[in-house]
Amino acid sequence: MDPREHLIVALDVGGLPAAEALVDSLGDEVLWYKVGLELYAAGGPATVRMLKDRGKRVFLDLKLHDIPNTVARASAQLAELGVDIIDLHVAAGSEAMARAAEAVRQVCPGDDRPTLLGVTVLTSTAVDAAGKPLSPEGLIEEVTRRAQAAKEAGLDGVVCPARAAESVKACCPEDFALLVPGIRPAGTEKGDQHWVATPDWALKAGARWLVVGRPVHGAADPKAAAAALCGQIGAAIV
Ligand code: C5P
Repeated sequence: MDPREHLIVALDVGGLPAAEALVDSLGDEVLWYKVGLELYAAGGPATVRMLKDRGKRVFLDLKLHDIPNTVARASAQLAELGVDIIDLHVAAGSEAMARAAEAVRQVCPGDDRPTLLGVTVLTSTAVDAAGKPLSPEGLIEEVTRRAQAAKEAGLDGVVCPARAAESVKACCPEDFALLVPGIRPAGTEKGDQHWVATPDWALKAGARWLVVGRPVHGAADPKAAAAALCGQIGAAIV
């Protein structure tokens, strides 16, 4: 497997021109990109078209969370854009997830449809709902419970911290896909992320995709940083 299949670079930049410049400077080193709230707010669907024109695959990370009708209709619109991965919050509820899954399948019948992922617990979450520090056991329990709900509602996988990946793998089918953010190669800054992991750890715990933002777009040499990540991914998947 090509290591680049596992790496999704987060295009957390302020607009389309900056995104385009970063993508062009990374060239063939990166196949997958994540368009998140900041870039989509600035550039909208044109950001997806820019990536698709360059033959890239796109994770549109808008983390939908609304009433079931709105989540389903928004999911259908995003599927129409031709993106490869869409996500919504598991906390939006089972009806929202099931209706989103149905809406995406209606827009794109057959196998060529976006993968629909449920966001479990954000990798930046350091405290629980009561404001107490979130323990690793508490994180794993909550993420696993939400992953089961996502699976039962017909989603294709979840977004989760590496710390909980093994537990999710153990209770879900083999093809239930795990996408893991909060990836930090050894020696890089955590920033606002709490549940961080190295690429090696996340892949061995069962991640299919690793999302990496600042360690690439914030590096002095983003292309060299992406190449180093692919080297680490290649070593972890042999
Ligand atoms: O810069 P960094 O590698 O921390 O960026 C992580 C990216 O992954 C950000 O764009 C963030 O929005 C996204 N993300 C996350 N946690 C999730 C889902 C997405 O950090 N659960």
